[in-house]
Amino acid sequence: MSALTKMVKLALKNPRLATNKAKITFRNSVTAKKDYCREDGWAHPPGTISIKLTNACNLRCKMCGQPREGNPEGHAKWAPTAFFHEKVTVEKYKQVIDEIKGWRPNLYLWGGEPFMYKEILELIRYAKKQKLTVQINTNGLYLKKKAKEIVDSGLDDLIISIDGPPEVHDEVRGLAGTFKLVEKGIQAIHEEKKKKGVKTPIIRVRGTISPYNFEYIYSLVEISKRLGADSLNFNWTWFTTKQTGQAHQNLMKRLFDIDAVSWLPYETDVILDPEKRKKFEGIKQELIKFEKNGSDIPITMSPYIKPDQVDTYYENITETFGSDTCYSVWVKSYILPNGDVTPCPDFPDYICGNINEESFMDIWNGERYRRWRLELKKRKLFPICYRCCDLFLSNVKFI
Ligand code: SF4
Ligand code: SF4
Repeated sequence: MSALTKMVKLALKNPRLATNKAKITFRNSVTAKKDYCREDGWAHPPGTISIKLTNACNLRCKMCGQPREGNPEGHAKWAPTAFFHEKVTVEKYKQVIDEIKGWRPNLYLWGGEPFMYKEILELIRYAKKQKLTVQINTNGLYLKKKAKEIVDSGLDDLIISIDGPPEVHDEVRGLAGTFKLVEKGIQAIHEEKKKKGVKTPIIRVRGTISPYNFEYIYSLVEISKRLGADSLNFNWTWFTTKQTGQAHQNLMKRLFDIDAVSWLPYETDVILDPEKRKKFEGIKQELIKFEKNGSDIPITMSPYIKPDQVDTYYENITETFGSDTCYSVWVKSYILPNGDVTPCPDFPDYICGNINEESFMDIWNGERYRRWRLELKKRKLFPICYRCCDLFLSNVKFI
């Protein structure tokens, strides 16, 4: 089946989401580039607003770059207890939705584990009532318990992280039995959809390609089909090196007088791993399988890396894939669990304002946001950008 046929079949399952995605693609590839040329850093309203609902999580995945409770002070992934309890009220989020609903952006909810934000379903129901499209990225452990409410909420897109076959998934996620729980959760969603006679939410399996599952990623094609997923999406792990992280930290100090340390947990160890050649060979063999074998499930990979580019991805951090310019900060915005608004998802050191103090749109084109855009444009990329997910916005490829 051709990539186009697969895209069309997927679009028909949720036309509203597909239309919004098409609008966002246009926004990313045309409007963003026009805004990029402006000399004042101003941008049209964002196509996607991403809310990180909570820093808390019920898992401790090996490849996760986020701070997690239980790490000792001074450890790269340490954060004070208060960090895991940060929370914006659902009323405040509703105010933001009221402010932005006019242009109907896509709302992307994540965490930590987003279902640990107790009012998540109330928020989704409200966003859907205001005709926004809503996506969630979850580790899937709450699906079984919440299946009926999820389907009833009108959620558009349910993105569930799976890393490989049961034993690999459980090992990466750090907890035995998680694959089974996710599987049961997906079954429960299917059953509720069937009872209600609806096609949404569409179910997307997301595999994060990391050194912990290099040799198993192709197995996710069969797993996704068996679980009845509508599509399969792969992200590579985002990382940085010590040298690059320090260069970024120094630059941020000089430009903005901020202490940009969010890169610390993202420092990769695969480059120093004596087994790395064997591991790279493993992932190359998996990528070859994608190239050789067709599949009737839509598969995307971001960024798209060919088998012979794997070493470069990990060992030459200044090599870019797909895009050498970040347009994301002209089209996407991130709200953190304490209400801070930042242009950057995984490296949120630079804060442009807080929704508890200002309106979202005042922040979006406020002095700090515009200054970030202009400084970024001057340099094309900051050191941390080369392995950040948002650099690959325009390099999501159907395979
Ligand atoms: S589920 Fe997500 S946020 Fe939680 S530890 Fe795993 S990767 Fe990190
Ligand atoms: S590529 Fe750079 S500027 Fe763009 S979102 Fe990522 S860290 Fe921020």
